[in-house]
Amino acid sequence: MNNEIEKYRKKVFKTIEKYKLIENKDRIFVAISGGKDSSAALSLIKEYIEEKNLNAKVFAYHINLGFGYSDRLEEEVEKICDSLGVELYVTNVKKEFNLNILEISKILKRPICSICGLIKRYLMNKIPRELGATKIATGHHMYDMLINYYKNLIHGNFDWNLKILPKLKSEHPKQLTKIRPLIFAYPHENKMYCEYKNIPITKISCPYSPNFCCYLSRREDYKIFQILEFSDKNFNNFNLELIRGITRFNKRIEKTIEAKKENYMECEICGEPTNQKICGFCKLKLIYQKQNMDNKISNLY
Ligand SMILES: [Zn+2]
Repeated sequence: MNNEIEKYRKKVFKTIEKYKLIENKDRIFVAISGGKDSSAALSLIKEYIEEKNLNAKVFAYHINLGFGYSDRLEEEVEKICDSLGVELYVTNVKKEFNLNILEISKILKRPICSICGLIKRYLMNKIPRELGATKIATGHHMYDMLINYYKNLIHGNFDWNLKILPKLKSEHPKQLTKIRPLIFAYPHENKMYCEYKNIPITKISCPYSPNFCCYLSRREDYKIFQILEFSDKNFNNFNLELIRGITRFNKRIEKTIEAKKENYMECEICGEPTNQKICGFCKLKLIYQKQNMDNKISNLY
């Protein structure tokens, strides 16, 4: 194993250990998209459990969004999981929930990425939990977190920045704890690791976000991305020190915030945790079903 890979593995393992991301009897589901980041997270969690001989299990969870490329992508995700020897669970949004994301986006006049994000967040909590998950892991890396950090500062969403942590504890019995083992990793490190491990990551990219990563398709996100790249090239480890500082600060005030946290309710329709009477996912379904019904009625005349 070369030095760079060893350094990266050590950094990720240290994050897992320090923040207790994997504990005894955990059943961790890793949300996998087919890309380098989630594939690296899945592989490293598996390596960690095996190396430390822990009494914990890892599974993969993929959401088939029902786009033109989604079935091919699902097959590629299967190959990744086969190569890593990890059991895969898939939810098909179109077949199982009868939701068409493109149509919903048109009806609601909201960007595809925002509908997609809402559906993913909902299913990533509900389905793995029903399958016995104790935690859900994602492949979010340092750049994902720092782009959000700057954007939240610019737009005044200060509270959201307090959630930039390696581990987001559950706030409701039906809410899974989220873990981000790659929070201190650079995107290029994840890529390097996947290449080293020969993980067959996908080349399929989402046509609705040109560079696969949604943030690169939006102007403001792209500007911040360039600032991060500039910092990396010119100021050694500036971004790593920044994300470390942010998480240390958030960790320090975590307890104070926990005491003030608003109470989660359960959605009146589906029973999932939400801070509204009806959750975002059910609202989406209601509007979509109503629109479909209206179309059917108008077709009769
Ligand atoms: Zn609901």
